[in-house]
Amino acid sequence: MEHLLGSADTPVRIAVVGAGPAAFYAIEALLKSPGLHASIDVFNRLPTPFGLVRDGVAPDHQSIKAVTRIYERLAEHPQVRYFGNVTIGRDVQLAELQRCYDQIVLAVGAPGDRQMEIPGEALRGSAPATAFVGWYNGHPDYRDLAVDLTHERVVVVGNGNVAMDVARILVRDVAELAQTDIADHALAALRTSRVREVVVLGRRGPAQAAFTNAEIREFGELHGVDIIVDPADLVLDPLSAAMLDGNRVAAANVRTLHALAERGATGQPRRIVMRFLTSPTEVLGDGGQVCGVRVERNALVPNAAGELTLVGTGAYDTIAAGMVLRSIGYRGVPLPDVPFDARRAVIPNVDGRVTAGVGGAPIAGLYVVGWAKRGPSGVIGTNKPDAIATVASMVADLPQLSCRAAGDRAPAAIEQLLEWRQVTPFSWDDWRKLDAHERERGADVGRPRIKVTRVAEMLDLVGKAHVT
Ligand code: NAP
Repeated sequence: MEHLLGSADTPVRIAVVGAGPAAFYAIEALLKSPGLHASIDVFNRLPTPFGLVRDGVAPDHQSIKAVTRIYERLAEHPQVRYFGNVTIGRDVQLAELQRCYDQIVLAVGAPGDRQMEIPGEALRGSAPATAFVGWYNGHPDYRDLAVDLTHERVVVVGNGNVAMDVARILVRDVAELAQTDIADHALAALRTSRVREVVVLGRRGPAQAAFTNAEIREFGELHGVDIIVDPADLVLDPLSAAMLDGNRVAAANVRTLHALAERGATGQPRRIVMRFLTSPTEVLGDGGQVCGVRVERNALVPNAAGELTLVGTGAYDTIAAGMVLRSIGYRGVPLPDVPFDARRAVIPNVDGRVTAGVGGAPIAGLYVVGWAKRGPSGVIGTNKPDAIATVASMVADLPQLSCRAAGDRAPAAIEQLLEWRQVTPFSWDDWRKLDAHERERGADVGRPRIKVTRVAEMLDLVGKAHVT
């Protein structure tokens, strides 16, 4: 058994694809597995690690980012190597990884976004909230996103925690944002923003809101911002009212909303309007540019099984707005040569073992963790038990591992392949240099860091060549 779990001389070779929370919790679980001798190589598309902790968590929620200290310790473990700036499926194919590693864990998240599928969604000024989040967090993919803040009102569709983040960032006091690690280009744009009102649209009622209580309470504490809640929206149907008994978060949310409704407008310069039971039916345009959203009032009606269903009431109105951000969820995207469940937008799996299609047989040595495994829900910590479960499957499968070609299993094999392909991996030392650089720039002006937001600049900073 000891031999089958690898040895110090011949460790089990494991590739982790992705470097977000799910990846690091998988690494932690692997390193903690009793008797397992593993050597772990981490591949990440961006040079920078930490996934949504760097590129998703709102800049005014710095304390949440402290979790990266745990990830740093894992990345610096002698059995772990980091290959940033390497895209699996482009720079290295899955089959090549399979030749070099005994087991592969996909921790690729859900980088896409869901569509509302209503007319006008493609107009200028209509964008996924995920792109806006990437923009203000300095994600290189969204560095040049055209964000026009010259309009007074923005509509955010959906009321999950991402919607709460984007609404808050749009109206938060810029002097406060200037103390965070928000991307410089976003800070500059927000300084001259003319946005005065953000309307957050929830399609269901306040008892079914997707935000958590800390987020709505935080709204109430924003300087210079009124939170507008229509007391009529807080009159619950009997089933929703009964639901509150068994749901602490929903009950707390409704209490907080009552308090906010009672406070009402206090003459602040900016406002967030929380609307419920309202669905967008069309994004309206003028000359190709968003000028508003047509919305329909909904009702929650019990079906034959006694469950609440959403129905349109046929009552419409229009909200004038210059920008619409749909915050209705992230979505998994297929990875070349990896099975994909298009309906759920996840990698099909049983207990983290990737299967050849939904209901298919497991593919030997291929595993999945995090949002790519279960869909885009849950907080950072949700990924820990999720990763532990997948690693349990990996360890259980080890006795069935067939040994792979000795040459390909050498740790140098992947480095040679990358060199041959002229791919420039960003090492952990490179990241430490970039990290120190960003922190130093930030310290000069009292900020946690000033992010570098272009890949070419990241590579330049550590003296690595790049293809322009
Ligand atoms: P989410 O929590 O799933 O919320 C999605 C929202 O979109 C819901 O309000 C949903 O309404 C609505 N929606 C879906 N389809 C719609 C449609 N066609 N029309 C109108 N509305 C629609 O997703 P998320 O906000 O993207 O967050 C993803 C995960 O990350 C969540 O688990 C979240 O808690 C987490 N997160 C946490 C934090 C934090 O802890 N501070 C910050 C950001 C994200 P229904 O509820 O009616 O389906």
